[in-house]
This record gives sequence, structure tokens and C-alpha cells, in this order.
Amino acid sequence: MIKNCCMISTWKMSLLGMKRAAPLLKRNVPVHEAILMAVKTVEDDPAISSVGYGGLPNLNGEVELDAAYMNGDTLGFGGVMSVKNIKNPIEVAFDLSHYQRNCLLSDIGATRYAQSKGFAFQNMLSPESKKRYDQTDKMRDSEMLEAYKEHDTVCVIGMDHRRSMACGVSTSGLFLKMPGRVGDSPIIGSGLYADSEVGCAAATGVGEDIMKGCLSFSIVEKMRNGIDPQTACETALQQHLQRFLRCNHSCGSISVIAMDCYGNAGAATTLSAFPFVVTDQNFSTQLYVASNIGGKISIFQPDQGWLNSYRGD
Ligand code: ASP
Repeated sequence: MIKNCCMISTWKMSLLGMKRAAPLLKRNVPVHEAILMAVKTVEDDPAISSVGYGGLPNLNGEVELDAAYMNGDTLGFGGVMSVKNIKNPIEVAFDLSHYQRNCLLSDIGATRYAQSKGFAFQNMLSPESKKRYDQTDKMRDSEMLEAYKEHDTVCVIGMDHRRSMACGVSTSGLFLKMPGRVGDSPIIGSGLYADSEVGCAAATGVGEDIMKGCLSFSIVEKMRNGIDPQTACETALQQHLQRFLRCNHSCGSISVIAMDCYGNAGAATTLSAFPFVVTDQNFSTQLYVASNIGGKISIFQPDQGWLNSYRGD
């Protein structure tokens, strides 16, 4: 378990955003500003192929995005699903988290809402994502989607100086997904859950499989019952995989992160390498790796040799 944290996020791709967010928390800004900074940095980076601009296209060659935000003080939740051309879906999700009703909007409704509130729009298909789409055999059956390994979600959990906690997530979902397909990311309790009285959790991986276990809520409930974040992540994931085994369901990749209201953090994964990023209470930001070898999870800080050989997000 990693102690004395104030932020944790998924994948190496979140490192720059986390480094930009850390000084904000140091200046005692509210947690949402740090989370938005971290997530927007990933959404805006054309080199990151699974989130925001330059994300993975759907079967029609359009970048279709999901994002969500949860406020751990109020349990306020907002999300957008299947949106195209919204530059920063996380901003719209955060805005919606202030409402008691109509807080999860999809497709055209979400787009009209974002237009009415003056959010920025742009074509999210970068030359690179178009090239990737054009080069791929689209004749594959949608059941083959698990074979498309290139998908990830940026998930950022934070806690500010008032001990307010929150979580934001953003993704383009699975590559060549059916238009309208929604993953776990904007689904409360599956892709994310935040409760400042307990802690937060978030998930990345094959959304259909994550949703079947409501994994983020499951992890937060374990922490509510006094289990530390590392054990909560490992136990929730393990129980979910065992349940799948009993019904012969072959599970895609799943990785989870969590942080409790005391600043303890943890992560678990089905992968041999799941990089994640932690900012500690001295506002220093470091990369970690969770590794699953034969069902046993270990956490380590990668050295330069490991980083040089790592090819993923
Ligand atoms: N969970 C995302 C989805 O299914 C993708 C990912 O995190 O890899 O849309």
C-alpha cells in the first residue's frame, strides 16, 4: 500500500497531467481544479491514442467519447456518453455533476447541452487516429472487440487540503466499438465512485466486464468496511474474476485504482504491467507499476530499463 497520497491516476499517459495538477493542490485549490487539469491534459494530447483528441475511432471512423466526474462530498455525479466533437468531455461531465437531475447525458442531448453552455468543440479525429482506422480491417465481428487491446481510460482520484475527494474519468472506449456503445467509464459505481467519508475508486479495461461487477463501488464499500485500499482493490478484482470463472466467462483486461480518505492508495490488475501515477502529500509525482503474475499482485517503481522497454499507454 502506498501512503500519504493526495492523487492517484491510471496509466503512464497521465504523468504530465498529474505533474501539472500537483502545484494546484499545493496552492490549496479545490480538488476539482486539479482533477480537471490532469484529465484535460490527457484529453488534449494528440499523442495519446485512447482519450480525447486523437482517440480510438468507432466502427464508423468517428471518435466517440465517454467521461464522468463524481464529487465525494455531495455524491454529485455527472457524465457524458457517446459524444463527438466536444473538445473536453470531462469539463461537461464536471458541469453536469452539479445537478440533481439530468446529470448523465448522451449523444445529441449531451452535445446540445454543451453547445448551450458554450463548451469548446473540435473534430476529435486526428490524422493519426484516421490513419489507424484506415489501416484496420473493419470486417471483424464486434464480438472480437476484446482482441483490440489498444484502449485505456484516464482515471484521476484526488483529495484536497480540506479532505474533499473526487474522481474524474475520460476515454474513447474500445477501438472499432459499435456506434453508441457505452463502457463502464461514465457509469457510476462501475468506472468510478467517490465518497469523501471513505475514499474513491476507478477502473480501466474492458468496460463490459468491469460493469458486471460494479467494481469501483465494490472497492469503496470494502474500504467503508475498514479494508485498506490495496487489499480492497485486490479482493474486489479477485472475487469478480472468480465469479466469472464459475460461469465460464472469459474476462478481458481490468485494472483498478483506489485511495482512502487517509491518503492511502492501492491498485490491482489482471495485466503483467499496469502503470499508474501517484502524487504524494509533498506534491511529488511518481510512476508506479502494478503487476499480476499468476494471480499475485506486486507494486513497484519502475527503473529506466523498465521504462525504455514499456510500449503501452
Ligand atoms: N473501460 C473503457 C471502456 O470500456 C476502456 C478502457 O479503460 O480500456 O470503454
